[in-house]
Amino acid sequence: MRILAIAAHPDDLEFGIGGSVARWTLEGADVSYCLVTDGSAGSNDPNTDPTKLIQLRRDEQMAAAAVVGVEDVHFLGYKDGTLQPTIELRRDLTRLIRKLKPDRVITMDPTVIFVDAEGYINHPDHRASAEAAIYATFPSAETRPIFPELLDEGLEPHKVAELWLMFSEKPNAVVDITETMDRKIESLRCHASQVGGQDLEFVRKWSAYAGKETGYAYAESFRVLKLIQPEQSEVPETVSEAAKEA
Ligand SMILES: [Zn+2]
Repeated sequence: MRILAIAAHPDDLEFGIGGSVARWTLEGADVSYCLVTDGSAGSNDPNTDPTKLIQLRRDEQMAAAAVVGVEDVHFLGYKDGTLQPTIELRRDLTRLIRKLKPDRVITMDPTVIFVDAEGYINHPDHRASAEAAIYATFPSAETRPIFPELLDEGLEPHKVAELWLMFSEKPNAVVDITETMDRKIESLRCHASQVGGQDLEFVRKWSAYAGKETGYAYAESFRVLKLIQPEQSEVPETVSEAAKEA
């Protein structure tokens, strides 16, 4: 099982899927992370040196990934805060998908603009990275005539079996993270420049809420799209079953 998780900022994946990733790597999955932006907007302090902040956030991300069993982390280096879902970004993500050949791509749900009841406007970088990621997954990764320059790099088309969207308002699957909840918090803590000193109890509350319906103490929820029907898929069912239909 090969999984590629794509997000805008260092720390997005720890908030969204850290518990599931910890579980999947324990079960033998091969997980790669891709962070689209450089994290340089992660401080409002006028004295912050952006170059130092970019390096710090890379280091924090590598440490956070290692906590949940992920060593392969890709940084695309787009500027944090003003990301657009451009063709260049879609090509960069298509290149990565064709190189890594994941069975499953995970990203945010790009349709979420407002998060009800929390007074929260979804960050435009989240939506931009997710839009580019879903269209890189389909149709760009599997369609030969799209981005012929990638063929020149030796990158043949690849069909992704499953697309999983985190932070979706229409989840249809949950992963039980009861056993890995503590590791999720530990990986989040690695982003000290962002969550240092912050009480992360709210993350446990989110996870408890996500698990309520299925009776899990803690869970992460997803909207799962099967891009290859199970009978055609080479994805082992035992791994797919980690997601129980909610
Ligand atoms: Zn973010």
